[in-house]
Amino acid sequence: MASSITLDRIEKRYGALPVIHGIDLQIQPGEFTVFVGPSGCGKSTLLRMIAGLEEISAGEMRIDAARVNETAASKRGIAMVFQSYALYPHMSVYKNLAFGLETAGFKKLQIEERVKKAADILQIEPLLQRKPKALSGGQRQRVAIGRAIVREPKIFLFDEPLSNLDAELRVQMRVELSKLHQRLGSTMIYVTHDQVEAMTMADKIVVLREGRVMQAGRPLDLYNNPANRFVAGFIGSPK
Ligand code: ADP
Ligand code: MG
Repeated sequence: MASSITLDRIEKRYGALPVIHGIDLQIQPGEFTVFVGPSGCGKSTLLRMIAGLEEISAGEMRIDAARVNETAASKRGIAMVFQSYALYPHMSVYKNLAFGLETAGFKKLQIEERVKKAADILQIEPLLQRKPKALSGGQRQRVAIGRAIVREPKIFLFDEPLSNLDAELRVQMRVELSKLHQRLGSTMIYVTHDQVEAMTMADKIVVLREGRVMQAGRPLDLYNNPANRFVAGFIGSPK
């Protein structure tokens, strides 16, 4: 099950300071979309508005056909993956995966089934009784992703999830995330400031600069036909 996301003239102001200026965007069900742009351009702000963690100052957001501006984060069918250090250090991996479902009132058997399935997908079954401090960086990141999977969301959001992993592991996790997307078929938005990550992972790239969309499209189309010098420079296009 996958959902579409529509952003219609979305704006964000922090107090009097505008940081997102009228963004229009259509994300198709099952699409892997990458928001890319330099630090401070508004990627995290936009993602947090989509998640429902940040109020939308103006414009409308829809999931499928429904307006969700006023919908609580927990009711949007969205799960956000944070960097791996957001794991609960005092809980086992199993408990880290189960905790959100327990607080949401799921039955023990259903929790066991979902944790088992997520652990299988991410190949972390042997780690379930360990504490986060006994895991490698890559294993921790898998657990962080597992916490999103167990909720069976219609939409996954990732905010620079690989930025604190070393280069080799980042490449490996990119491949694994692409496989996860193929397997689940969910709508995913992935935020990064890394052009290579954007070019290799995306169905659709959205290039942001100072709170505006410079260009949105398939990686090859942006590479071959960048809308302006900023996109060309950022994507590494020869044009
Ligand atoms: P990115 O994720 O692309 O690095 P952010 O979305 O974090 O960018 O930030 C976009 C802009 O909004 C920046 O200028 C940042 O300083 C500002 N900003 C982000 N969060 C807040 C906040 N809570 N209060 C005020 N300004 C903020
Ligand atoms: Mg950010």
